[in-house]
Amino acid sequence: MGLLAGVFKAVLTNVYCCECDDYLEATTKMEVMTTKIKGCEIQHFGTVAKCKECGKEVYPTRTTKENMDKAMVGYEWLQKEIAKDKKKKR
Ligand SMILES: [Zn+2]
Repeated sequence: MGLLAGVFKAVLTNVYCCECDDYLEATTKMEVMTTKIKGCEIQHFGTVAKCKECGKEVYPTRTTKENMDKAMVGYEWLQKEIAKDKKKKR
C-alpha cells in the first residue's frame, strides 16, 4: 500500500532550535512539500521536524539533506517527463 503522510513519526534528539536557542528534541512527520529547483517547483514527500518545546519548524541537517535528495529525484523525473512530452508533440 502507499505510504501515507504522518505514518513515519519519529523523535529526533539534539536538534538546534533558533527560537529556544537550545538543543532540544524534535518530532518529525512526513508531509507533502514544495521545493524549488532551477525555477521548477517540485512537490514531494519530505520530513518536517518541529521543536518539541515551542512547536516551531527546525531544520536538522539530516532531514534537510534527505528532503533535498527527494526533491532532486522529483526534478529528474519531471525533466524526463518533459522530454518525453516534447518527443510526442514532434
Ligand atoms: Zn523551540
